[in-house]
Formats: sequence, C-alpha cells, structure tokens
Amino acid sequence: MGKVMVIGAGGVASVAVQKMASLPDVFTEILLASRTKSKCDAIKARTGSKRISTEQIDADNVPELRKLIKGFGPDIVVNLALPYQDLHIMDACLAEGVSYLDTANYEPPEEARFEYSWQWAYHDRYKNAGLTAILGCGFDPGVTSVFTAYAARHHFDELHYLDIVDCNAGDHGKPFATNFNPEINIREVTQKGKYWENGKWIYTKPHEIRKVLTYPDIGPRDSYLIYHEELESLVKNFPTLKRARFWMTFGQEYLTHLRVIQNIGMAGIEPVMFDGREIIPIQFLKAVLPDPGELGEDYKGWTSIGCRIRGTKDGREKTYYVYNNCSHEAAYRETGAQAVSYTTGVPAAIGTMMYLGGIWKKPGVFNVEEFDPDPFMEQLNRLGLPWVELHDTDLEL
Ligand code: NDP
Repeated sequence: MGKVMVIGAGGVASVAVQKMASLPDVFTEILLASRTKSKCDAIKARTGSKRISTEQIDADNVPELRKLIKGFGPDIVVNLALPYQDLHIMDACLAEGVSYLDTANYEPPEEARFEYSWQWAYHDRYKNAGLTAILGCGFDPGVTSVFTAYAARHHFDELHYLDIVDCNAGDHGKPFATNFNPEINIREVTQKGKYWENGKWIYTKPHEIRKVLTYPDIGPRDSYLIYHEELESLVKNFPTLKRARFWMTFGQEYLTHLRVIQNIGMAGIEPVMFDGREIIPIQFLKAVLPDPGELGEDYKGWTSIGCRIRGTKDGREKTYYVYNNCSHEAAYRETGAQAVSYTTGVPAAIGTMMYLGGIWKKPGVFNVEEFDPDPFMEQLNRLGLPWVELHDTDLEL
C-alpha cells in the first residue's frame, strides 16, 4: 500500500518496525534511519525482512534529511526519535511534500515545557500543501486519545469528567530505570502537576496529589496526578469536559531515586563544566542508567492504561472505563522489547496504516482524537493491544 520512512532506532521504533514488517500488504517498503546506523541494522536483522533498508541520519540537519526523503520518496515519515527533532522533521516533510506522524509533542531542549503550540502552528502550512501531520500516536498520547474519541462517539452525549490512568505494575529487577528515553521521561515526571477544571488549568507541586487506584487484574497502586500532553488537545477537542486529569503509578523506591537525582542536580538541563567541557547533567545520567530498550528480558508483570470517563447519555449520568493490559513478558517474547515500548510502537504502526489506507488523511495538523476512532480500535484488537470496556462501574475518581 505504501512506502514509509521511520526515524529513530530505540525501543519504540524497534516494535513499530517489526509490526510494519509483519504487514507486507500495507507497508510495502520501509527505510529505517537514525543517528546510529548499527541500531537500524539490528532491528532490520530481527525482522528478517528484505523490504527494509537502513541509513544513518542526523534528524536535526534539515538539508540532510530532505535529501534522504527526496531519495527514498516515502508516503509518510514516522518520527520515533526524540521530541527535540519534531520541528526539524516537520520542516523537512513540508519542504519535500510528505506527510508526518509522531508519538510525542515538541519540547525545546533548554526548557521542559510540554505544549502543542509549536506544532499546531504548522496547521495552515500543512493544509495548504495538502499534507497530513498526525500528532501523538503512541499509547498516551495516542490510544488514550482514541479511547476518548470512541467513548464520545459510541457511549456518551457529553463527556464531563476524564481521568486517564497509567499503571506500570511491572518489575525489571533493577534498582532504578526509566521505561523510555530517560531524559524525556525524567523531564516529564519531575515537572509540576497540572489538570483542567472548569475552564482553566490548575497547577500542583510535583506528585502533590496521590490516590490509591485499583487496576484490573493488578490491584491497588499509589497513583499520582501529573501533567500529560494529551490533556491539552483533549480539552480543546471535547469542550464539554469539566475536568480532565492524568494519573501515573510510581513505587516509593522509584520516587526516592527520583528525589535524590533531583536534589543532587543530576536532572538538570542547563550545561555545567566537567573536565574542561560542557555537559548536560540529565544527558550524562542517561548514559549511566540502564537502556530502556534492554530492560525486556527480565521484565515481569503488566501495564494497564485506560480512560475513566463520566458524562451523560440519553439524559442520565453514566460511567465508562476502557483500558488495555499489556504483559511485559509477552511483549518481550514477540518483539524483544518491554511493554512500554510495545504499547507505543504498535499504535504508531497502526496510525501509519490508517494514513496509508486513506482513513486518517486530511490536510492539516491533527491530534489523533480528531480522526475516526473505529478502524484504529479494530486494529488494536488485531495487532496485540486488545481493549476491555466496563460500563456503569465504580471509577474511584
Ligand atoms: P530511545 O532513546 O530509545 O530512542 C530514540 C532514538 O532516536 C535513538 O535511536 C536515537 O539515536 C534516535 N535519535 C535521537 N536523536 C536523533 C537525531 N538527532 N537524529 C536521528 N536520530 C536520533 O527512545 P524511545 O524509543 O524510548 O522513545 C522514542 C519516542 O517515543 C520518544 O519521543 C518518546 O518521547 C516517545 N514515547 C511516546 C510514548 C507515548 O505513549 N506516546 C511513550 C513512550 C515514548 P541513538 O540510538 O544514536 O541514541
């Protein structure tokens, strides 16, 4: 059906490319390009597919990127590198007349600020060029946004309260590790909390609000209110929402490590002098922490991510909970990656498939909840992320 260029060769890209390679009718040719070519070659070798080629690329170098895009001629570029590359890749796509998909919103490297403003600013240019940019097509953002759109379409007349709940009940056996890129992950979880209520954003101290929430087949876990980027687009696209929050589970051991890392300055994003050269503390920390892509082998347990929603249907109040549970061990058996990479890489492949099939294709820059959720939900069930719905259940929130 189409040619795809994937940028980045980390845990998420590895899963997405393996899924793409398993669907030859949809993904007829794949170019996998990243900063370190040997990582692309290792992913290609794992798939055993002859339809994958690999290249070295610095995605921050727009002229180089344009050359690579022009030479390969993809239908869409899938950005599975880091959020810092988003705008450079969007620029190169625009210049070469190719559509775009990513899983995380742009962040300026010098400031941990998560917002869509920079990418939404490309809307008119993509629209005028007849190109599509699909933003945030991982699990959260991504599947959680599609879950919300599906709920709004099929189960509610109005959404009023949305709580996205993200539990990782897995154990990788290491004292401390992050489940995806450590720099991006630590920037995300150490920022101030923030949620939407009655038309405005309410700010909290990091991890100030905690609740014990019960996750299906897992049990009760400490869950902390944090800010997560999909809240910004969801409150815009579902304006009947009176409140929208995001909860993530953290163990005490993880939080203690995080506090120490912050207190000793290792989470810093400002350069410091070390041995006569500038280094950025959090980038140095990344170099000594376990590689999230390598955690899979000993990872046991489940992730459970879903949306707990309250609203109205046919004049009565209703509650609804839709979620997916994903096993770290099953993800590893299938792809050699743990469940956090798996739950992000599979939706990225499905979103790309939606674009190639002409189902998620309209000129402009869009978040995933702005497309038809039904065919995407169908593919989640087929491609390894089955979901469960509970109606009129106790949401605990
Ligand atoms: P990794 O750090 O494992 O992989 C990132 C890859 O991008 C690496 O291969 C890296 O190269 C490559 N890269 C970095 N900079 C450049 C550059 N300038 N040019 C070319 N390649 C570059 O990250 P993950 O796979 O864990 O995460 C990938 C993305 O997925 C991130 O943006 C993350 O925020 C997002 N994510 C989204 C989630 C969601 O649910 N929406 C959940 C989890 C992650 P090298 O190998 O040389 O380091």
